[in-house]
Amino acid sequence: MKVYAEVLTAPSADTPGTTILLHFDSKKYVFGQLSEGTQRAFMERHVRLNKVSNVFLTGPVQWSNTAGLAGLILALGEAHALDLPGGKQQGLSVHGGENLLYSLSTMRRFVFRTGMSLAVKELVPGLPEFRDENLVVRTLHILPSGMAGRARDGQDKKAFLGKAVNDMFCSDWNMNTFVDDVGAEEGVEPEHNPQLSTKLPPKGKTRPPWPASTIKSLPDTTPSTVAISYVVQLHEQRGKFLPALAKKLGIKPGPDFSKLTSGQSVTTAEGKVVNPEDVMEPSREGTGIAICDIPSLAYLPNFLAAAPEWENMETAQRTIGCFFWLTTGEVVGDPRYLAFVGKFPKSRHIISSADICPDRITFKGTAKSAVLLNSLDAELFSEPKLDCTPRRTVDPSKFEIAAPGLQWQIEPKWQLRTETVEPLFHQQEVVKSDGYKALAAVAEECRQNISAPEVSDLAGKEVEIFTLGTGSSLPSRHRNVSSTLVRIPEVGSMLLDCGEGTLGQLRRLFPQQGGAIEDILSDIKLIYVSHLHADHHLGCTSILSMKHSLQPNHPIFVLGPEVFYTWLNEYSSAEPEMAAVMANVVFIPSEDLESEALPRLLEALSLSKIETAPAIHCLSSFTVAFTFDLSDGTFKLSYSGDTRPNPAFVAIGKDSTVLIHEATFEDDMAAQARAKKHSTVGEALNVAREMGAGAVVLTHFSQRYPKIAAMSDGEEGANVVLAFDGARIRVRDMARFRALKRGLEVIYSEEEVAGGQQKE
Ligand SMILES: [Zn+2]
Repeated sequence: MKVYAEVLTAPSADTPGTTILLHFDSKKYVFGQLSEGTQRAFMERHVRLNKVSNVFLTGPVQWSNTAGLAGLILALGEAHALDLPGGKQQGLSVHGGENLLYSLSTMRRFVFRTGMSLAVKELVPGLPEFRDENLVVRTLHILPSGMAGRARDGQDKKAFLGKAVNDMFCSDWNMNTFVDDVGAEEGVEPEHNPQLSTKLPPKGKTRPPWPASTIKSLPDTTPSTVAISYVVQLHEQRGKFLPALAKKLGIKPGPDFSKLTSGQSVTTAEGKVVNPEDVMEPSREGTGIAICDIPSLAYLPNFLAAAPEWENMETAQRTIGCFFWLTTGEVVGDPRYLAFVGKFPKSRHIISSADICPDRITFKGTAKSAVLLNSLDAELFSEPKLDCTPRRTVDPSKFEIAAPGLQWQIEPKWQLRTETVEPLFHQQEVVKSDGYKALAAVAEECRQNISAPEVSDLAGKEVEIFTLGTGSSLPSRHRNVSSTLVRIPEVGSMLLDCGEGTLGQLRRLFPQQGGAIEDILSDIKLIYVSHLHADHHLGCTSILSMKHSLQPNHPIFVLGPEVFYTWLNEYSSAEPEMAAVMANVVFIPSEDLESEALPRLLEALSLSKIETAPAIHCLSSFTVAFTFDLSDGTFKLSYSGDTRPNPAFVAIGKDSTVLIHEATFEDDMAAQARAKKHSTVGEALNVAREMGAGAVVLTHFSQRYPKIAAMSDGEEGANVVLAFDGARIRVRDMARFRALKRGLEVIYSEEEVAGGQQKE
């Protein structure tokens, strides 16, 4: 039997957390932090999730550790469903600290599956250890020094939240059940859940909402600071049965042999009792690993005092082959910590810390494209930003630094395997590649085309649109989920939608040295969220927290549907730092712009007007138009979010300088676009024509189009840019993009093998 633990993610700009996969032949177990980008990292590395039966979250249940949880649960559900015949699913259990049920419940309006066998286990002191056929997992509950734990949740609250989570994943809600649509407003299409590709309900009927989404509010909660660590131990390995010895003792081969191997004693014909241990080699003690999440120095004293785990030091020293330390450089440098580590000279110590691990590029596909784009036009496209110099170093004779692919083998013998570590991304390798050389000729051709650039006569010439994430639904190798940064020089910036991983995308686009990323974040004055689908807003919390740490007393405007604000507030009450973060948030509902805060927002971004109109997509989804008063004239920017072609949007976006429109599908999938309430490329361009838009940026492409989406002939004449991740589209460069079209096609011609079924 081969058993090993492998680092899947180590802290980087792309994946702030550490995740470890423990492999057995029959099962896999996930341990660690499920931060933003985790699921995308698994996909990038082709990690198969099929045999994962249990997920053990470390640290406190907080956004930094759980942002990727819902995505992973859904991905695991799909991996299980794909794996077993007839759609029968292996059960999944998720274990984590206090507030795990609460945190998942807050996502009830945008996470939904039916028939997934999911158990959520909140780990509180006193629960029995986890045990299955492979291992025993013991939990360490660590509080920061001097802090008392919060009061335990009552049974009522647990039952309520348990039911909510059950209704999100395991409900028996059926899409073929319809009820009378009593509250239907005239002209409003019935609500459709785009996660399901189904036809619309018959006239006058509607589907009942899925059960969890109807829960208006959750029982109150308070943040929990308890950080969870685990000691994992394999079972004792029983010694081999010795048949020759058994025969010598008078046992006949046959049923008595089986009895002895199954652990029962046997009495011989002579009346002598033979015990299993008389005829077996001695058994071998089970060994294992420790996954220790120490979020800050404040947790160290209680971790070191974590009785009874360290009480029997001799056993721990003998059985823990490897420690995975999910912590900070400050902890690793502390003499008390070093003294503790010194007590385990035979064990290996793997450090996973944001200030010690180099900032490796996880999403190499995007980084490779960035290098190619940069060679195509260095002014428009910057190289991927990385800084692999760690802020702190550790003694290499004592510690190993965590890196994706690093393995600790437990069985058949203890061994650290570094040859499996994922190689670093090297820009030079791309430069030496055939693709790079092939691009050189095309790039020259493109430059010839640019030699007589059209001078754009659009207002807002200097406005920059950075398309950070241009894919729909789930991230893929080349496209992250929705997010667009708009920078208006001298005025400020805004984010249009903010999917999971937005902060990571910004960190790859703007240098981390010299304060550039801080300047970009500080400049963001507004986050606009179009609707509550998970691919449009899960990156918002990290951006808000980061902004708060940079500008503790600075307001940040958030414009979006009421349900989004409800989610932010619900979620924040489980997060220790979020109360202060939320105190800076000035929320304006998309439903009703006549908020008293609106004049302040208008002033902050030199806007003369903001208009919203309902999208034709899902309940509480909106389109928006911003009109700016800039020094070179009136600049109007419209953003569709997700929608079908929409007359109400055409009306508010009339005469837009730039329209950013979703184009989920190519023109040959018009029926799919109608069923899923999205637009095709052709439909989006038609909206642009109806608006009389000066230029259009198409984005939110289905992940089935890893390369540049196709446009029908004759549609390329307008100022049309097909967005891709990391593009910097300056309004005055729109024409330049067109000249680069051939080069972009060369870069994005590589076909991607789609992993499983993609949903839009
Ligand atoms: Zn959507």
